Amino acid sequence: MWLRITVPAAVVTLIVLLGLAVVAGRGLGPLRLQTVDDELRAALVPAADAVGAGRPPAEADGITLRVLDTAGRPVDGGAPVSRLDPSALRALKAGEPVSTGQPVTLRWLGVMVPTPDGTPRLVVAGTGLAGLGASVREGSHWLLAAALVGAVFAAAATWLVVRLALRPVARMRRSVRALPQGERLPVPEANDELRALAEEFNALLARQAEASARLRRFTGDAAHELRSPVASIRVQAEVAVANPDPELSQETLADILAEAERLSALLDGLLALARSDAGELPPAEPVELVTEARAAVHRLPPGSPAARVGGVVGSAWAHAAHAEVELVLNNLLRNACRYAQSQIVVSVLAGRSTVRVVVDDDGPGIPPEHRDRVFDRFYRVEHDRSRASGGTGLGLAMVAETVRRRGGRVTVGESPEGGARFQVTWRRAGNVSVS
Ligand code: ADP
Repeated sequence: MWLRITVPAAVVTLIVLLGLAVVAGRGLGPLRLQTVDDELRAALVPAADAVGAGRPPAEADGITLRVLDTAGRPVDGGAPVSRLDPSALRALKAGEPVSTGQPVTLRWLGVMVPTPDGTPRLVVAGTGLAGLGASVREGSHWLLAAALVGAVFAAAATWLVVRLALRPVARMRRSVRALPQGERLPVPEANDELRALAEEFNALLARQAEASARLRRFTGDAAHELRSPVASIRVQAEVAVANPDPELSQETLADILAEAERLSALLDGLLALARSDAGELPPAEPVELVTEARAAVHRLPPGSPAARVGGVVGSAWAHAAHAEVELVLNNLLRNACRYAQSQIVVSVLAGRSTVRVVVDDDGPGIPPEHRDRVFDRFYRVEHDRSRASGGTGLGLAMVAETVRRRGGRVTVGESPEGGARFQVTWRRAGNVSVS
């Protein structure tokens, strides 16, 4: 991590500093020339004053001072000034600096001055530029070296800062490694990303703990539920073997058959829930609820309490799978049959974006304190009552799971008939953009 931050930071710093060094190096030459021009100008002022006063210019240190006529010929008795062509002469008269020689070896600056008798004279000051290129090159090298050193410093500083910044991360990593079962990570005081990470991590741990507790409970409950029919089959078989009475055997076989059926229903339920837990989801299609409700009522065994489909206006299409709607209706109606005294009413209602099936019965209902948990796996309001009636305690859990994974909802309340009211809401087919 520190390498991933330090290396790019050092490279970027190096590029920026090198760029600056190159730009500054380019500016060095003109800067040095500027300094030379300033020195020439400073020497030129007293020289021009002297010539204006009719005196020869005084000597200046390292600077050649010459007095020329307007054609560039010397009037101070010295040798002609070499390489002063007409354009250079024009520039000097205009007060602009001129460089001569190839490569540039001399720098000149001039000023026009009238002598006391009114003759115009060009006073020029010149100096050699030998060594300027070398010193500019040397300056550039120094700048490049400074850029490299700066980049190294920046890399070291970044590395140090990143290490310091990552120290809490390392601490957190150690805490995670040594975290005892069931414990949570200490949340850092500072209100920063690490605190948010620790909180997220703790939330994840909590969710995982909850999921594994649920799984443990489910496995324990499943084993417990499976044990009693198996034990009952075994005991009855042992009794039948010990007392080989044909009449008793027939009765025992009937009991064993009933227990085996319960066992098989339990295993079917467990398998269905396991498949659902694994995320298997059949493709959704529009399912017409009125037809389904009527078919489910028809499927009720003879001798069931009177059941009818009411509250229907036209048709109601749910976004679900056919088998899912069938499972939900079968389970709710089977329960209603178990508990209703005399009647069951199934209503189908269509809203703007949802469709609902309401199953009412006139049985004992479900007391409010059980309503939250009645959709839990193996939960029974009255343990013995439903077990005696062959219930597995998985029916409503399957209903809830089936409806929930389609984005629907199932609730339980009190029916106007006096018993339980189960209400299932699906998204309305056609209103659904994703399946
Ligand atoms: P079971 O297969 O045991 O009926 P369910 O999950 O279908 O399991 O139901 C859970 C419990 O909810 C049942 O044991 C029963 O106590 C209660 N229950 C379900 N439906 C009704 C109802 N219509 N009226 C009263 N109690 C009900």
